[in-house]
Amino acid sequence: MQLTKQTLNQRTDHVYDVLVVGGGAAGLSAGIYLQRYLLSTLIIDKGKARSFWMQELHNYLGLPPETPGRAVLKQGKDHYLSLEGDYLNAYVEEVIDEGETFAVKVRIGRNHPTYEVFHTRYLIAASGIIDHLPQLGDMKNVFDYAGHNLHVCLICDGYEMRNQRVGVFGSSEGSLQVAFPLGWFTPHITLFTNGAFAVGDDLRDRFAAAGYTLNEQPIHQFLGENHQMSGVELADGSMVDLDAGLISMGSKYHADYLQGIDLDYKGGNLVTDTMNRTSHPRIFAVGDLKVGMNQVVIAAADGANAATQIWRDIRRTEGTRRVPVAA
Ligand SMILES: Cc1cc2nc3c(=O)[nH]c(=O)nc-3n(C[C@H](O)[C@H](O)[C@H](O)COP(=O)(O)OP(=O)(O)OC[C@H]3O[C@@H](n4cnc5c(N)ncnc54)[C@H](O)[C@@H]3O)c2cc1C
Repeated sequence: MQLTKQTLNQRTDHVYDVLVVGGGAAGLSAGIYLQRYLLSTLIIDKGKARSFWMQELHNYLGLPPETPGRAVLKQGKDHYLSLEGDYLNAYVEEVIDEGETFAVKVRIGRNHPTYEVFHTRYLIAASGIIDHLPQLGDMKNVFDYAGHNLHVCLICDGYEMRNQRVGVFGSSEGSLQVAFPLGWFTPHITLFTNGAFAVGDDLRDRFAAAGYTLNEQPIHQFLGENHQMSGVELADGSMVDLDAGLISMGSKYHADYLQGIDLDYKGGNLVTDTMNRTSHPRIFAVGDLKVGMNQVVIAAADGANAATQIWRDIRRTEGTRRVPVAA
């Protein structure tokens, strides 16, 4: 059920089989599989998933290519709740390993928060990442276009940008190199540093050889209307016309709550085995937070893998039968 401040006390003494941090594509997929394995599950989600920000899911088998991410989330949450899983809108602050179980400290509400601790035998980290965006004076101007034709994912949206005039917005020399795989889709590429970093001679020569334009001026604002970006205005008042943009500025990894637990990471991503188990035997990681491709189809498959491996673990230690846990 959807837990609220009023119904929480029915659950704080309960030891869940699995607590899932994050209710995006990966966490909801895990939750659906877990409930169908008759395991008691709590999904805790703070909202604003990458899946929510995705205006159109273009490449998922069985769904129309303009399906909005929020529709996938709503359908997934309804499906999970129909299987009697528990769901709470809250922020997971800390996970403490108690040996057989984990204590999960949660903050509920923003303005007048309350705090609760839940207990679980297994934990699935499905908390994802969030993309860094260009920092302009007016951030609303960035939010107007980001996720529409100001893309953040080449794999997702390279096809949308084919043969278009595309601006690449980077945060470092390395991040601008996304231009080379983007060149598979379009030759019309302008690279923007926003005046924030220098580009060395080697890379400058490679961009020139590929026919890409380098623009090193600070950006004043994106131009366009109805969430369709049509160019940028630079600080000196000049304009650059564009059909689309690709932001390549790295991401924030949502894993602060795991700081007290020794886990293997590669960069900010959690390292897992093929069934999504991390270096801790009772912690699994799924979706964008773990090493691998950041795609909905991968997130959904990760959820299925993690849930199935946890079911196998529990079944092998408990025996062969379990009746559903009463609400
Ligand atoms: C603009 C855009 C377009 C995209 N287009 C496509 C596409 O066309 N095709 C495709 O396959 N993929 C696309 N993607 C990528 C896709 O959205 C991600 O791969 C997918 O959403 C990953 O799912 P996830 O469950 O791992 O993470 P998310 O969907 O980000 O869900 C993680 C959830 O965990 C929550 N959370 C984080 N920390 C905490 C915490 N401490 N406590 C509680 N909750 C927490 C977050 O708020 C979030 O709700 C796109 C992404 C973006 C941003």
